[in-house]
Amino acid sequence: MKRNILVTGAWPYANYLLHIGHLVALLPGDVIARYYRMNGDNVVYVSGSDCHGTPITERAKKEGKTPEEIAMYYHEEDKKSLEKAGLSYDMYTSTESDYHKEKVKKYFKMMYDNGHIYEKEEVQDYCPKCDKFLSDREIIGTCPHCGSEAKGDQCDSCFASLESSELKDRKCSTCGSTPELRKNKHLYLALSKFQPQIEKLIKDREPIWRKNALNESKKFLNMGLIDRAATRQLDWGIEVPVEGYDDKRIYVWIEAVLGYTTTCERVLEERKEDFIKFITDPNLKSYYSIGKDNIPFHTIIYPAILEAIGMNMTLPTHIISCEFMNMLDEKMSKSKGNLITVNDIIDKYGKDTVRYFMIANGPEKKDSNFSENDLIMAHNKFLVGGLGNFINRNVSFINKKFDGVVKEGIVDKDIIKLTKDTYKEVADLIELGELRSALDKVSDYVDAANKYYDTSTPWIQVKEDIDAFNNTTYTCMYMIANLSNLLRPFIPDTTDRIKTLLGIEENGWNEVTLKGDIKLNDIGLLFERIDIK
Ligand SMILES: [Zn+2]
Ligand SMILES: [Zn+2]
Repeated sequence: MKRNILVTGAWPYANYLLHIGHLVALLPGDVIARYYRMNGDNVVYVSGSDCHGTPITERAKKEGKTPEEIAMYYHEEDKKSLEKAGLSYDMYTSTESDYHKEKVKKYFKMMYDNGHIYEKEEVQDYCPKCDKFLSDREIIGTCPHCGSEAKGDQCDSCFASLESSELKDRKCSTCGSTPELRKNKHLYLALSKFQPQIEKLIKDREPIWRKNALNESKKFLNMGLIDRAATRQLDWGIEVPVEGYDDKRIYVWIEAVLGYTTTCERVLEERKEDFIKFITDPNLKSYYSIGKDNIPFHTIIYPAILEAIGMNMTLPTHIISCEFMNMLDEKMSKSKGNLITVNDIIDKYGKDTVRYFMIANGPEKKDSNFSENDLIMAHNKFLVGGLGNFINRNVSFINKKFDGVVKEGIVDKDIIKLTKDTYKEVADLIELGELRSALDKVSDYVDAANKYYDTSTPWIQVKEDIDAFNNTTYTCMYMIANLSNLLRPFIPDTTDRIKTLLGIEENGWNEVTLKGDIKLNDIGLLFERIDIK
């Protein structure tokens, strides 16, 4: 029976070009989505750009552009990078899309009507000249630590993180007036009320979630969940669907995670499928491919929002939260200048080499290191020396001696068993989100293939026993054909080429069986060796 599967990737902030640190967190989602599609399940795989929030408005102000111009530029660039990496989203949208905005307003109103969003009055800085309330970032003053001019949330000179009330000689950053304190109202999400439901969720998911997801979530639960402001004093973002809030917008933390729901809804609407049935399916499996810094938004806040909406939507089942991929033991960051963009790395090494390396060395359970030398060594060892070598030694022999035609033979029984077992084991591991181990299993299969070739010695069989030679070669072709499925979620372009080589069609996540003679098509060398300079 077709299963309902929701796969998502974290929403990149539309304020920078994506680098390999992002890719390593997002790629697992693509492998999982491709696998389930091959398996014939009903897959919805979505993501998009997170366009709202103050860093974008600040940047726009600095560059003399509108926030929309900044957000849309990076949205388009990031979308292209993700396509280049082969991320096969059913939809990659943005939080600026009208569809998202309308649905968020609807869900926000539902939470409000259900009594989970409430009004609270607080005292806030107000600029009488600009006639508006000021956020921390809109206040400048003298840093209490180093005496430099600092913004209300951080001092750029000594990097102290600040509260705007700590600054001396506080001024409005736009007009320089001294702010005064005025009463202001905001809406809050009653997160604290959902402590029992979230505790139950974490307990239920204990056996399947990664350790980092469980630990990080328990840390917040142990401190006790606290209500969070759901509106913000800002004119960039989604309007608040409650009267009296025209000068405020919905806080990004609440609407960006809702993008998973709104985009899933949109995809199913376009497919003319029933969204409610899908999202409330008790057997719905959902995968969230994210970095570890994003965990609480997916394990606590998003489930609490879904509960507050009250449509009985199925809560997240799988959190694919990766650790960090560091650059020579240092965290990747703009200030360290050690970022490599997704575009640059793929232009240099090719999509499938990068995809293979990022999964095989992915920081699934602990931080891992990125180095171009490691990437080259992984490419040469597996893609050239393992997979490429197995295919090449078979193909060049057949091309040279038999004009590219493989005679029908009998496939080895042990190899058939190994193949069937490998499909099962790889499927189970991918469904658990254990992609490194899944790829290791395929790698073992390639090793077994090379060993089978070596021990069968077809170069001797061809002279002494032609039937034995045909059986060996046919068994090898059978293994190559099945590798074009087993590797398909990981390196899709390469497996397309293997299918062309053998002239076989896409047949899903199922054993490929061969019939009759096979005429090999020319696909050139599968991978070239890369020299380490
Ligand atoms: Zn300072
Ligand atoms: Zn002002």
